Amino acid sequence: MADTLADLGLDLGLYIAGEWRSALGRDTQPVLNPATGESLDHLPLATTQDLDDALEASERGFKAWRTTPPEARAAVLHRAAALIRERADMLAAIVTREQGKPLAEARGEAIYSAALLDFHAGEAMRSYGRVLPRPPGLRSLVVKQPVGPVAAFCAWNFPVINPVRKISPALAAGCSVILKPSEETPASAIAVMRCFQDAGLPGDVAQLVFGVPDTVSRTLLASPVTRKLSFTGSVPVGKQLMRLAADTVMRMTMELGGHSPVLVFDDCDLEATLDTLVAHKFRNAGQVCVSPTRFHVQEGIYDRFAAGFAERTARIRVGDGRDAATGMGPTANPRRPGAIEAMVEDARSIGARLLAGGRRLGGDGFFFEPTVLGDVSHDARAMNEEPFGPLALLSRFSTEEEAIAEANRLPYGLAAYCFTQNGRRQALLGDAIEAGMIVINNVRTSWTDAPFGGVKESGFGSEDGPEGVEAHMMTKAIHAS
Ligand code: NAD
Repeated sequence: MADTLADLGLDLGLYIAGEWRSALGRDTQPVLNPATGESLDHLPLATTQDLDDALEASERGFKAWRTTPPEARAAVLHRAAALIRERADMLAAIVTREQGKPLAEARGEAIYSAALLDFHAGEAMRSYGRVLPRPPGLRSLVVKQPVGPVAAFCAWNFPVINPVRKISPALAAGCSVILKPSEETPASAIAVMRCFQDAGLPGDVAQLVFGVPDTVSRTLLASPVTRKLSFTGSVPVGKQLMRLAADTVMRMTMELGGHSPVLVFDDCDLEATLDTLVAHKFRNAGQVCVSPTRFHVQEGIYDRFAAGFAERTARIRVGDGRDAATGMGPTANPRRPGAIEAMVEDARSIGARLLAGGRRLGGDGFFFEPTVLGDVSHDARAMNEEPFGPLALLSRFSTEEEAIAEANRLPYGLAAYCFTQNGRRQALLGDAIEAGMIVINNVRTSWTDAPFGGVKESGFGSEDGPEGVEAHMMTKAIHAS
């Protein structure tokens, strides 16, 4: 198997003002294959001049793109969607190589990204305003306009979807965008940007930069050119960026971390619930902001649930994502196995029972076994901090009130999952749980036409759905007589 990115026909670079800029004369950093720990290539990092050039281009790009007719903007997005579908196998190969998830998951990510682009293309046509009733001679209009150049930052866990989720609604609204994806998964974002380039997006409208994250975010957010911050990543980094953005009072969309509770009631369909939950828990090795993490199970079925969960987990085959038999790949970077190991040890030291997995796997890759802990104390670190790895935490409850209190205990509020056949209870849970997405008897949180986002410290300003484009528009009232 080839083990460089060049073998996939991809050179790493920055995309600024419609040109690719190479490593020549720039600092670089290695991009690792998480399955082997080996370097795949070296990524150029932006200089101060690169960032200044990107800002200038973004300002020019906005002026041109905001007056481009919505039909023309939509056509570019549809063409980019078609190219992503056409290149899905190549994109999947890149994602698996630099991020580790199995090929089938990576391909699904590419296909869903194309659906997002098609949805946003439709929304580009629907930025409606209002005409308000007034006495004769007076007319009041409410109009929507693109907010301006966007600075977007996103994490490594969905190297194709995350960049598309940032670029696509911005372009639909008529904004230009400078994107800084994760330096750990740059090739996927580069391949996405090539789709936009080949779809005919004018060069100044979208820029792609990599660099020292703190320098890039400080530079882009301090500039008066930037009118919106859009971020997907951890709560601490999100708070830091919000502080920087406050200086120029810019608009923000913050898609931050979560610690999703799963409430499993005695009356659920137990076998179907287990099949669904175990598959969902270990998707992308648990490195998903909406990953189910805290499994609160009613006492009448707790023992059967724990046994069924552990038994299914032990059957998951861990390996290189390029192997078709692999059910779960490595974690994405060398930080995750140590972080998960420390959480497992901490939970066990205060009484958690190890039901499956629990160890790092040998070799040079960043592997950790799919792990299940039972009877986990609510004081365990993992029950309070986002685990972001292949770790399922089980605990028991007796009453509905207790389950709801536990679901709402943390400052996070992204997704929550509930399994119960009781209709009255389903309605109550939908009302009472503090989360941006509440999913009952299934696990799907992402639909192109529905808002995706959190409440409390998980963020604000949903992505996807009409809300995702609306978040890139400003509202003006015009009163004329
Ligand atoms: P991290 O907080 O160091 O980094 C998260 C992302 O933010 C990375 O892509 C990084 O490049 C970027 N980043 C870091 N500092 C930045 C800055 N100053 N300006 C702009 N971008 C910056 O965490 P990590 O070790 O890479 O990942 C672990 C944690 O990240 C997890 O605990 C989880 O909370 C969070 N995470 C969340 C998501 C999500 O979808 N919400 C995705 C990936 C990671």
